[in-house]
Amino acid sequence: MSRRALLAGLGLGALAVNLSTGASTAVAAEAEAEAAASAAAEAAAAAAAKNGAWANPALGRFPAGGHYGAPRGGASHAGQDVSNSTGTAVHAAAAGTVVRRSWGGGLPGRTGNALVIAHGGNQYTYYGHLSAYRVALNATVTAGQRIADMGATGNVTGPHLHFETHTGSLGSTVNPVGFLAARGVDLSGGWSRIDPGASGATVVVIQRLMTRRGHTLVADGQYGSVSVAAVKRFQSSKGLVADGQVGPATWPALVYTLRQGSSGAHVRALQTALNKRSARLAVDGGFGSVTTSAVRAYQSANRLVADGEAGPVTWRALTG
Ligand SMILES: [Zn+2]
Repeated sequence: MSRRALLAGLGLGALAVNLSTGASTAVAAEAEAEAAASAAAEAAAAAAAKNGAWANPALGRFPAGGHYGAPRGGASHAGQDVSNSTGTAVHAAAAGTVVRRSWGGGLPGRTGNALVIAHGGNQYTYYGHLSAYRVALNATVTAGQRIADMGATGNVTGPHLHFETHTGSLGSTVNPVGFLAARGVDLSGGWSRIDPGASGATVVVIQRLMTRRGHTLVADGQYGSVSVAAVKRFQSSKGLVADGQVGPATWPALVYTLRQGSSGAHVRALQTALNKRSARLAVDGGFGSVTTSAVRAYQSANRLVADGEAGPVTWRALTG
């Protein structure tokens, strides 16, 4: 079982425990086992956190005063605001289960349409002030899946995503910028960081781009020793630090600017990255009209220049 599958399983287990408020001994034993499993999962996650399991929830700018901990009346701001226009895509920050879909998520002090996703390991994310929901309560979501549209519902001065990260329990917030940075995601929109040991769709993207760069790799989604060694050789060939981390220095050297008519492993990489963001393309390596439409739709929903070409800005957003 992959760690992601394990974490998703833990998320469902945690939900079942939370719903079982009539604490029988069976539930107590389950909760104890759950806590032990959660601790193990958290330790495993900490060992290789920049693993592509997390994704940037929204593109935009950080407004003045929108940072975590900023004073809000008598309280402090529980999340990080990301400003953009109403309708901007909001993506799941990681795989999980939608456990709240309601005004303020039922949490004290929050307003507006909100979603809460449980990610397992007692980790939760909150998405507030949404203009539209794109997932149902109790839905299972994947990292990067489009879940909502940015909006201005509740007490706001303009459209933005109010994004929170919770660890330990729902309601126990931490700074989302640091939380995501530790997991390889730059909430301000920079390139992601993928470490050796990672697995998943973003690793497939890397492997397909590497193949096009002349370092043929099996696109198995496992960033293991063979792939890492190839990336280190690639980094050396480009005069980069050969540390095996695919981050802000390596991504720009790895991606290609692609447009309709392109074909090959790099197009497969692009199609894989688009599918992580809900595109549902056939990964055939041919950049035809369907892929062009998917690129344009992604760019439009994320407020990028919607020219249907995949250049560095689009790649950075897709893989972030
Ligand atoms: Zn906020």
